This record gives sequence, C-alpha cells and structure tokens, in this order.
Amino acid sequence: MNTPWGYRPRNQREEPQWDLHLQTHAIRSGLARSGFGETSEALYLNSGFTYASAEEALDSFAEETEHFLYSRFHNPTVAMFEQRLAAIEGAEFCVATGSGMSAMFASIACLVEQGDHVVASAAMFSSCHVVITELLPKWGVTFELVKGNDPSAWTTALSKPTKVVFIETPSNPLMEIVDIAMVSELAHKVGATVIVDNVMASPVLQKPLQLGADVVMYSATKHIDGQGRVLAGAILGSASYIQEKVMPFTRHTGPALSPFNAWVLVKSLETMELRVERMVSNAQIIAEFLEARPEIKSVRFPGLKSHPDYALAMKQMSGGGTTIGIEFAGNQEQVFTFMNKLRVIDISNNLGDSKSLITHPATTTHRRLGPEVQAEMGITPSVLRLSVGLEHSTDLVKDLTQALS
Ligand SMILES: *Cc1c(COP(=O)(O)O)cnc(C)c1O
Repeated sequence: MNTPWGYRPRNQREEPQWDLHLQTHAIRSGLARSGFGETSEALYLNSGFTYASAEEALDSFAEETEHFLYSRFHNPTVAMFEQRLAAIEGAEFCVATGSGMSAMFASIACLVEQGDHVVASAAMFSSCHVVITELLPKWGVTFELVKGNDPSAWTTALSKPTKVVFIETPSNPLMEIVDIAMVSELAHKVGATVIVDNVMASPVLQKPLQLGADVVMYSATKHIDGQGRVLAGAILGSASYIQEKVMPFTRHTGPALSPFNAWVLVKSLETMELRVERMVSNAQIIAEFLEARPEIKSVRFPGLKSHPDYALAMKQMSGGGTTIGIEFAGNQEQVFTFMNKLRVIDISNNLGDSKSLITHPATTTHRRLGPEVQAEMGITPSVLRLSVGLEHSTDLVKDLTQALS
C-alpha cells in the first residue's frame, strides 16, 4: 500500500497475492497494528510526535527517515482511514480532511491560479456552488455552469481552455446524472483535471476513476460515516496530484481530520457496503411506492425506469442510490403538513444516514441560492429530498402512507 510519505504498517503478515474484493479492503486495508497486536484499529489521539534524538528529528524533517511529524501533516489513525478508503476507491493516494467542504475547496484551490477557468455542472450542493461562483472569482478564477445532462452544452463549454471540471452526479437533490466518461474525454482534450463529487453515489455505487475522472472527493459525513456522528472529507487521486498539488496545499492551510473522527470512520468503512446495499434496496421500494401515489407529481430516483437518464445511471452506477427527489402535487403548505405528520422519518438537512431523513431544500439546504438559481436546478417549494436509511422498509412505507393520507 502506498502512502505519500513512505509510511508502512508494522507487524503485518505478508499481503495476499491476489486482488482483494472491495469488502475485504474495507475490513483489512490500511490496518497498521502497533507492537501490542491489538485486533481493532488503534486510536492515536495525539497532535505531536517525539524523537529519540536531535539527529532523528533532523533526519525526519529532512525526510531521510520515516517518522510522523505533526498531526496537521499526518497521523497513524488518519493514515489508516486514508489507506483503507484509497484501497476501496482504487486510487493511488488519499488525503482526509475535516469536512467534505474542505476537501472540495482544497481539491480545486490546489490547482487553480488567477486567470484560470473552471467548468462545473449547474446542479450542485449549495456550498460547492458558493465556492465556484463566489469565492474562486475573488481570486480571479472564472467559471461556467453547464446543464449536467446536456452533452452539447458540455461540448460547447469544453471547447475553451479549462483548468478544472467539477461534476456532482447524481446531483443533490434532484438526482440529475452527468456522463462521467463523456465529460472526462472532452475535458482531457482541453487539458482540464476532472473532479467528481461522488457523495451521492458513495464509494459503493460509483467508481469515477474507472470511468475516466482524475479526482474523487467525498463528504465522509454522509454514507462513509453514515451514522450521523462525525464531519469529514476525502480527496482521492494519482500519486502526482496528491503529492505535488494537494499535500503542499493542505499541509499549510490545515484542513486536517481529527484522529478521533478518523478512527470512527475506519470502523464505519467496515460496514459501509452492507449499509449502502440495504439503503439502496429500501430506496428502490420507496421510490416505486411514491411513484404510484396520486399526491406525488414526480419521483426522481436513478433506479426508476422513469428517470430521464435511467440507462446512463445503470451504466455508471451499480445501484439506484439512497436518496430520492420528490415533487409534490401541492404547495409548500401541503408539503409541510406532510412532513410534520411523519412519525418515523426525521426532518433533517443531512443525508446518507442510517436514519431516514426528509429535507425541504428550498427553505433549508439550498435556501442560500435564492429562487432563481433554485429554479435552474429544478428546486421548487413543492420539492422534497428523502434520504432513505436502514429502518425496515415496511415501516417506512407505513409512515409515508399515513402522512400522505
Ligand atoms: C454534504 C455534501 C458536501 C459537503 O460535505 P460536508 O461534510 O458537509 O462539509 C459536498 N457535496 C455534497 C454532494 C454533499 O451532499
């Protein structure tokens, strides 16, 4: 297993001689046992490290010996999380960060300078939208937003020199699908680096690097933790991108992940595939149930044949996802009445959790964007986002049925 600074797990048996499955990586990869031989991953909750001598400190800082220096740069527990996630993703390297947004910002900021151009899919998580349309322009980085599922719009936008292409697929909240392979091919012709926000699909359902993208970023707050406990993020890509671009940026700007949160996440990865698979099958049942209800105008779920990009979704994802976009045949007041009647599903702005959560994007998560940008994304006061959790699907259907009636 590679790490950016040459750190190697200790006390390990020889690595197996065959390619491990994702689920085995999720349990085994990155495990660096201490001399005590503990079963579970150890929590190294420390900021600094000590040296046996002044000479060892000198050699460590000169990178002539392998030694952790400071937890802003790296930490043994954080490294276990980074290596495990990299193995699952099939990426050379991973850098973990304190939130999804710090990962998103660092993944782009480490590449761009004044005068550079960024192209992004228009339907985006609202804080990502703010970074690209408000913050980067302050430093002279221009941008263009493209309707994500319109190939001709991508062809036009990517006919100009572009430094970064940023895509979110499926998009939050209306599950718009961007063709990762098609956009990557166009982007590479103009020399752009393609970054995919893979949060909505999770590492289980979509592998952007295999489809031609260069970089994957996560909010590990979502399915990776998946139990509502910690904020975290991750950037995954090639050795050169991580070592030459990301690390020189993150080491000095400090979006480091707490070792405690990394320890929570290392254990979360062990159950991620099981959890996501169950969430997907629950979401499929609920999407089909909602689609048949007269109170619902339309259901946006990539696993439904009615989804406008169903074929593409099934080609680039291994499941329909865990989140459903719902358009009500009713106004905001009726939508709020429905939300308030729910007895199992919680009202919350989070997603990818073991608890099913319902959100009214127009007044919460996407509120800051204002009605015009919301309308461009298809978000109206009648739209809800349902993140389907791990409860029994029968109870979820019963809850929705009683709240709809
Ligand atoms: C939540 C989310 C983020 C931001 O992650 P945080 O961990 O909340 O900082 C970015 N992109 C998408 C698609 C998200 O859902």
